[in-house]
Amino acid sequence: MKILSGKTAVVTGGSRGIGRGISLRLAAMGAVVYVNYVSRPEAALETQKLIEDAGGMARIVGFDIADAGQVEAAFKQIIAEAGSIDILVNNAGITRDGLIARMKESDWDAVLATNLKGAFLCAKAVSKTMMKKRWGRIVNITSVVGFSGNAGQVNYAAAKAGLVGLAKSMAREYASRNITVNCVAPGYIRTEMTETLAGDVQERLKSEIPLGSLGEVEDIAGAVAYLVSEDGRYMTGQVLHVNGGMYM
Ligand code: NDP
Repeated sequence: MKILSGKTAVVTGGSRGIGRGISLRLAAMGAVVYVNYVSRPEAALETQKLIEDAGGMARIVGFDIADAGQVEAAFKQIIAEAGSIDILVNNAGITRDGLIARMKESDWDAVLATNLKGAFLCAKAVSKTMMKKRWGRIVNITSVVGFSGNAGQVNYAAAKAGLVGLAKSMAREYASRNITVNCVAPGYIRTEMTETLAGDVQERLKSEIPLGSLGEVEDIAGAVAYLVSEDGRYMTGQVLHVNGGMYM
């Protein structure tokens, strides 16, 4: 039997990039994976197909994690269908980069709403079902820049640092219910988010990474797999840094 057989996982932004890698990995471990997207259903369908072609189980669920009403309705529907939710990966995220002097308030608000409030809303939405089962795993995908800072990303870095405080506080609230809450902090990973960076920026980034290359989505999926498995059961309120050594 696969180690996550009988478990249900929700991966926000599971339709592409790092979220797709995580969805594929959790499905390969036996979980039924609810793949969330907000704007590109075709990417979610492709992820579902990849999972099913590999013998796994996936459902697609479109909702905006920054919208409290949509989150509540979506999680209610998933719990009604699946019976419970055992694993939540708060992965969905966006960037609206710019130096602070020129950053629009709307760019600050959009990034905080998706990257931080979205995780809060989703974590809150699974807390009751996990408490009832006395088992749960929540993983927030933060970022190296939440620790190191990054010029041009005050909104993104603030949201990503906030995810750590959210995880640590929730970890303390729910430890007695056998619910662990941790973070994975990727460095630069090859996805659409980083492919849009100019070639010279990518080259500069590589030169700052001791292991010499950008990471792959599987590197992050592996860290999540560890945290949600029994091997990770004694870890809570922690951050796993997966960044090729660029931040130590
Ligand atoms: P991508 O841009 O490739 O994918 C983002 C995903 O999030 C998509 O599935 C997108 O759905 C979804 N999404 C965006 N906004 C919302 C929303 N409001 N509600 C629901 N889903 C939403 O990102 P990555 O895979 O690169 O990044 C994934 C996570 O990892 C992010 O949190 C990012 O900050 C973090 N990270 C990434 C790094 C990297 O180098 N790539 C480094 C460090 C952290 P749709 O396609 O439907 O719009």
